[in-house]
Amino acid sequence: MLSLQKSSSSKLIQKLNLQNSSSLYRSFSRWSPEKEKNLILPKSSDIINEKEIWEVLESTKPLAKDPKVIDDILEKAKERSLLKGIDSSAGEFVQGLSLKETATLLNVDVNNSQFMDKLLNTALSIKERIYGNRIVLFAPLYTSNYCLGSCKYCGYRVANKEIPRSFLSNEEIVKEVGAIQKIGHKRILMLCGEHPKYPFENFLEAVQVASKVKTPPHGDVRRINIEIPSLSVTDMKRLKATNCVGTVALFQETYHRETFKDLHPYGPKSDYDWRLLNMDRANLGGIDDVGLGALFGLFDYRFEVLSLLQHAIHLENTYNSGPHTISIPRLRPAKNTPYYGNTEYLVDDPNFIKLVAILRVSVPYTGMILSTRESQKMRKTLMHIGISQMSAGSRTNIGSYNKKNEGDDSSGEGQFTLADLRPTDEVIRDLLENGYLPSFCTACYRLGRTGEEFMSIAKRGDIHNFCHPNGILTVAEYLHDYASPTTRSVGFDALQRELSNIPDPNVRKKVSKQLKQIENGVRDMYW
Ligand code: SF4
Ligand code: SF4
Repeated sequence: MLSLQKSSSSKLIQKLNLQNSSSLYRSFSRWSPEKEKNLILPKSSDIINEKEIWEVLESTKPLAKDPKVIDDILEKAKERSLLKGIDSSAGEFVQGLSLKETATLLNVDVNNSQFMDKLLNTALSIKERIYGNRIVLFAPLYTSNYCLGSCKYCGYRVANKEIPRSFLSNEEIVKEVGAIQKIGHKRILMLCGEHPKYPFENFLEAVQVASKVKTPPHGDVRRINIEIPSLSVTDMKRLKATNCVGTVALFQETYHRETFKDLHPYGPKSDYDWRLLNMDRANLGGIDDVGLGALFGLFDYRFEVLSLLQHAIHLENTYNSGPHTISIPRLRPAKNTPYYGNTEYLVDDPNFIKLVAILRVSVPYTGMILSTRESQKMRKTLMHIGISQMSAGSRTNIGSYNKKNEGDDSSGEGQFTLADLRPTDEVIRDLLENGYLPSFCTACYRLGRTGEEFMSIAKRGDIHNFCHPNGILTVAEYLHDYASPTTRSVGFDALQRELSNIPDPNVRKKVSKQLKQIENGVRDMYW
């Protein structure tokens, strides 16, 4: 299959080398052409309504100056999220904020310290109520950095000739995944660019190869999430059929159509509508866990937050399941990519903290993901108020887990530069020492708790009842199998703390018993 793909794309590659023009990129047929007949997809303008966003941002400006209105909104956010004893059979669920309420919060000046204190406290209490103190960890794995994308902000864009290009062969995938397993990860996020040299078939095979890798003492991959170019329904179905994939994430980058057009002038990614409808195609292809995101720094962050909210509402209304995750990458410098220095929309730290807290209170039932683009300090702040998942020990250049010391990003040849270069062991120790519970849990995906079923648990605010025991079990495995002696000693003490925090004595007893089993060599128990 691979050689067929290579030969069918070789003419195009030759042409690309000869004729490096934007019209040629436009003529490149999609990586993942649609073969389904009679598909009915929603209209993009019914998902992202720019007029409504601008109107609500304008009309709520006076409200944002009224402390009583702000207090009321934050009070409502608490009431709707901190419900106890929800009767879901009566249609009672944790709820977030409306577009208007969210817009009002976004319009409050970040220098208003009274508002910020209240906002952060509300976000913290919602985070604690719904997610508890666990932080799920994962490692990204880039399988190819060939890309026809013209994204002006990205180090991997086709016009950047200063980045060496390659993709991982199946043998290299095995080595990379093995190296990731040796640092203790169980969840990987697989990513690649869009290019005929690395067709979707290669990626599909890479996923299956990665899922089978096992390394001593107990290295395995328990969940693969993916973040790859837009796919057709046809290929979503093929992805689903591998039975290896959890969440499909894709960031719109910017939801602002004109800015999107400007930043993606040619190439397959320049089609705003095709990208926006990716999550509809995922659902139609049977993938019901999807992850949204916007790259903050490309356009007005208030517009992006409201667009994320509109997108989430659309998914919820259409498929009974909002986004499984929302990612909040912030623009970072990349090698030979001057865009970073030329945008007027960079989000400073205070506004970034504000927008993360607003997302937390507006969409309380959706996990939020942070990458190593952010510094250790910023990650610590954001974990406190909303983040429930983050990458650790990440490398973004191809084949680098196997070649370099963990945390070495010195070549600068990744998609963007990283800010938190700490090894995974250090991240885990830091989390444990600061009262968090790191977790490698993959239970929901493996027990079929996905899509609507997952959402109904998350919206009852009950997901932490699963997350906490699973976090304890997976981190115990880590401490036995991979931790440094220092982390191990900090970790086992912290596990006792976590155990005593389990409110139900029966659950506590069962987890205690399972911890003993782990000590005796049993692995991979989950709730
Ligand atoms: Fe390619 Fe993605 Fe980078 Fe765009 S953002 S150039 S599509 S890797
Ligand atoms: Fe994620 Fe489910 Fe595990 Fe919680 S129990 S950490 S939601 S997989």
